[in-house]
This record gives sequence, C-alpha cells and structure tokens, in this order.
Amino acid sequence: MNPIVFAIPVFMLTIVIEAWIARRRGMAVYDIPDAITSLHHGVLSQVSGLLVQFATLGIYAAVYDNFRAITLPVNSIWVWLAALIAYDFCYYWAHRLGHEVSVLWAAHVVHHSSEYYNLSTALRQTSSGWMLGWMFYFPLAVAGVPPLVLGGVALIDLLYQYWVHTELVGRLGWFDRVFVSPSNHRVHHGQNDYCIDKNYGGILILWDRLFGTFVEEREGETIVYGVRKPLQSFNPLWGNLHNYFDLLHESRKAQGWRAKLGVWLAPPGGWHDGAIEHFEPVDFVRYSKQTPSVVRWYAVLQFAFLVPIISHFIAVAPHLDGLHVAAYALLIFLTTMSLGAVLEGGQLARRCEQLRTIVIGLSFVLQPDWFGFVAPLPMRVAIMLVMLASAVWLARMPLVLEMNKQEGIVA
Ligand SMILES: [Zn+2]
Ligand SMILES: [Zn+2]
Repeated sequence: MNPIVFAIPVFMLTIVIEAWIARRRGMAVYDIPDAITSLHHGVLSQVSGLLVQFATLGIYAAVYDNFRAITLPVNSIWVWLAALIAYDFCYYWAHRLGHEVSVLWAAHVVHHSSEYYNLSTALRQTSSGWMLGWMFYFPLAVAGVPPLVLGGVALIDLLYQYWVHTELVGRLGWFDRVFVSPSNHRVHHGQNDYCIDKNYGGILILWDRLFGTFVEEREGETIVYGVRKPLQSFNPLWGNLHNYFDLLHESRKAQGWRAKLGVWLAPPGGWHDGAIEHFEPVDFVRYSKQTPSVVRWYAVLQFAFLVPIISHFIAVAPHLDGLHVAAYALLIFLTTMSLGAVLEGGQLARRCEQLRTIVIGLSFVLQPDWFGFVAPLPMRVAIMLVMLASAVWLARMPLVLEMNKQEGIVA
C-alpha cells in the first residue's frame, strides 16, 4: 500500500487544526480558494506521479542494475541513513537548479505560486517535475542505492518538508541552522529581496550553509509569499503549464538557435550580472476573486468528497487496468478543474460543475461498484442526494454572483 494513503488523513487533520489555531490567534494564514488550489495541485501531482512512476523508477532501476559500483544491503540502517543524507544532498542541487534554470523553474514554480504560507502550501506540488528531476538522483543508482531504499528516502525527505510550511512555529534557535525549519523555509518562499534564491535544503539546511545560500529570517521584516510573476489563477492545469507557455513564447521570439535554447537554460528573469529588481513588500496585493463565502464553503464540501476518492485512486490504481486508471484519473482531474473554475466564478463554470455533480451522483448510485469499491446502498443514495442537491443549489449561484457584482465584489 502506498504510504501517501495513510498520510492523507494526517494532512487534512493538521490543516484543519492549523487553520483553527490561526483563526484563534487572529492570523490571516489561510484563504480557502488558495488552499483548495494548493490541494488540487497536490492531488494532480499524486495522480501524475502514479501514472509515470513505472517509467521514472524503471529508469532508475535500469541504471542501478547495469551501472552500480557496489551492491548495498537493503536491510542495513546505515545504508538507509547514508542514502537519506546522500539523497538530501542531491535534493539540494535539484532544488537549487530548479530555481536557477528556467526549464526546471517552470516545473518547480508550482510549489511557490501560493501567496499564503501554510500546511496546504506544502502539498502544492508540481505535476511535471518528474520529466527532468530524475537526472539529479542517478549518482545514487551508480553508488548502489537500491531502488527500494531510494523510494523510501525520497518519501521521508518529502514528508519531512510538510511540517515546515507554517507561520505558527517561530524561530527554533540552533535547529534553524542545522535542519530545514519553518523559519528558514519561510525565507525560501519569500519574495522580499533578501529571500530570493536562498535556503534550498530538504531536511538539512547545512547544505545551504556549505554552499553559500543560507540566510536567516529577519526580525521585523514581514515576508511576502509567492512569486514575482504571480500565477493569478485557481486553475491547476494552468498552474502547471503557464511557465512553459511563457518560455515557448519567449523562445519563439528569440533569434537563432543559441538564443532559443538559451531561453530554456537561462535563470528565470534572464541572464544578468546586476542585482535583482527591488521588491516593495507593502505594495503587494494578494490575488483574489473575492469569491462569495458560500461558494468557498461549497468548494470545501466538494473537496471533502475528493479526499476519499484520491486516497482510493492511489490505493487501487496499481490493481486496475489501464483504461480504468485513465478514466479514474480523468475524473479526478476534471473535478479539480471544475472546482477551480467555480472559485473563479462565471456561467460556464457553473454549468460544468452542475454537469459534474449530476454525473457523479448518478454514476455512484447506478454503478454496481466504484472502480472496485462496492459502497453500501445507503451511502450510494446519500452521495447521490448530496450531488443532486449541489446541482440544484448551483442553479441559484448566479443570484449570489449577481448580487455581489452589483456591489462590485465579483469581477
Ligand atoms: Zn523552491
Ligand atoms: Zn516549500
């Protein structure tokens, strides 16, 4: 069983707890559309990761089988520990180049596109990182790290980074200078001048101190999260692709193949020796469509249905045939697209969402089993009723939007 299936309820519970504590402290840490968008990116990242894992792990295993220098035992704690440290070192460089090379940044920018910093931001992960990310870990295959150990330490490294995405934990003294922590990772997500291209570590921040990219969080200077070329969208597909389109557009304009290639290999923002452009934190305005509160909570409710569905998909996908996996993945993808569109408003979004809720409601009650899961009849009927009620309720949505439009709230 994929360990992520067990991690998902922990993620959801801790996000709710963090939001609750932040609310009690009067901190504006969460914005529902932003958090739902982060979670949608996480869902799609898991789906795409699962679809390509046979290729990525397969390439790693092929290199390991044919080119490993030595054979390391899988059952030694020392092998796991050394592999974790070696993986973290490779992660540092993969992450650093993910910020310094445009084509790699196009994938990694997803993780930085949230303008909030909370546990849901940790789950805002790319769906295209696998395309080039694998090459940074080949040295581990050559060094003899077995594929099973690589998969294990990669998961440990990823899960470790979850808890550091919070504003609720302050400075931790010596810990901030040895390990990646909420304080030093906040800096990594900042747009402020001193935050750019700093603190790349995964578990150990020591790599940054070793290679000159470490900076401590400054007291008295509020960090503004996000990227300087803001995403300004709740569409998870656009979130994953927008930077590739920008690069494609720029390389089309460039003259000569050197310049065209250079667009993809240059640092984001282009080649220049001077200091980066100054950023004024007080001028920054976070992206918002001012989605009506009731629509935000509708998206939360629908996402709550998506949580068991994505868990089920991750659990059963290895046992389903290709056609069913593709159909299930498409359904999940369309759900994230539809909910994202609802959060942005508009007639088309409402119609799509109505269609989605009706199709899901009817198929759940009419299907004898849901991709291998035979739900009891009361559950099938209850889900159908909620989905059909959603479709009916959505028909009233234009009134809400129109009312807000008059007030100038919704664009
Ligand atoms: Zn980063
Ligand atoms: Zn992060």
